[in-house]
Amino acid sequence: MLTDDYGREVSQVRVSLTDRCNFDCVYCHNEGLGDTRGPMAARDHEMDTDDVVRFLEVAREFDVEAVKFTGGEPMLRGDLAEIIRRTPDAMEVSMTTNGTFLPGRAEGLVEAGLDRVNVSQDAIDQESFAEITKSGAYEQVIEGVEAALSAGLDPVKLNMVVFEPTAGYVPEMVDHVAANDGLRLQLIEYMPELVGRPEWGIDIQRVHDWLAEQADRIETREMHDRKRYWISADDGDGEGMVEIVDPVENTDFCDNCHRVRVTHDGKLKGCLNRTDDLRPMGEMTKAEIRETFRETVANRVPYYGEYMIEEDGEWVLNEAYIDREPATESTMLAGDDD
Ligand code: SAM
Ligand code: SF4
Repeated sequence: MLTDDYGREVSQVRVSLTDRCNFDCVYCHNEGLGDTRGPMAARDHEMDTDDVVRFLEVAREFDVEAVKFTGGEPMLRGDLAEIIRRTPDAMEVSMTTNGTFLPGRAEGLVEAGLDRVNVSQDAIDQESFAEITKSGAYEQVIEGVEAALSAGLDPVKLNMVVFEPTAGYVPEMVDHVAANDGLRLQLIEYMPELVGRPEWGIDIQRVHDWLAEQADRIETREMHDRKRYWISADDGDGEGMVEIVDPVENTDFCDNCHRVRVTHDGKLKGCLNRTDDLRPMGEMTKAEIRETFRETVANRVPYYGEYMIEEDGEWVLNEAYIDREPATESTMLAGDDD
């Protein structure tokens, strides 16, 4: 497995299959590229099936253990089942989706090899859902979650971005997952870095504290040092699990980041928050992709704590990374037994 200069093994890849989407969520960072286009703009520069598979085969050569497909909305890709079928068997396959296309398709994806799914559901009522996602597809999302559960994707994780417009719905969402078997809740701290609107951010510690008060028990997971809160339903019937993903200004989170990303147009990306580290794979051969993957890993830097540093309470760019000569593969063989 490749390891970067900070001892972080790259065990997972997150592949954006498209930047098209049938929603237009007000908070969307589009996998770290920002709000570059409107919903459903023309298909442009997307990797084709073979491009995606070729990359995954190289990633597996480096012992990458898991792939998450995302977007845009990954289910807008008609070849999604084929991509999943052709993903190397040893890799766990998961997907993050807005859920609208799961009815009628969830089973086929499971047959193709999909192991896990996250469905974005930011609100528990139709009106606020429409305001946040700019879509009226609330019922379809609810049906999508049911379709995923019936297809055997158990648990289904609901992703909820916590920011000003949704923070008030956290208790209802927690109760929703506690009362419904098979659901888990992942509360994602709103990341303003690539979308602006910092005023939407909320103090995520307050959410941790509130969950800790409600929880029957709390577990800490090794990955990202993340806590899991187990909470009973309000009527006492059922128990649900809630996790918080809180990457903003969190140096522990960056220290534990094991992911390399691929943009919809086939560029390797070492960090969600950066757009200055993109490396195009384009028409590359496997040998060239291998080299580019190594280079991407060699240049990975924990964003908070290294790339950005705290000075007088403010996060500022670390001058060491401006105009820095990119590392090549020869400088990064630690941990690489290839
Ligand atoms: N369309 C799919 C979906 O909505 O799940 C996949 C792509 S979406 C960009 C992937 C995840 O990123 C979603 O769970 C979404 O809620 C989250 N996300 C998008 N913008 C965000 C932001 N500014 N802060 C935190 N999470 C964000
Ligand atoms: Fe972004 Fe996903 Fe919302 Fe589409 S559904 S706008 S990709 S967060």
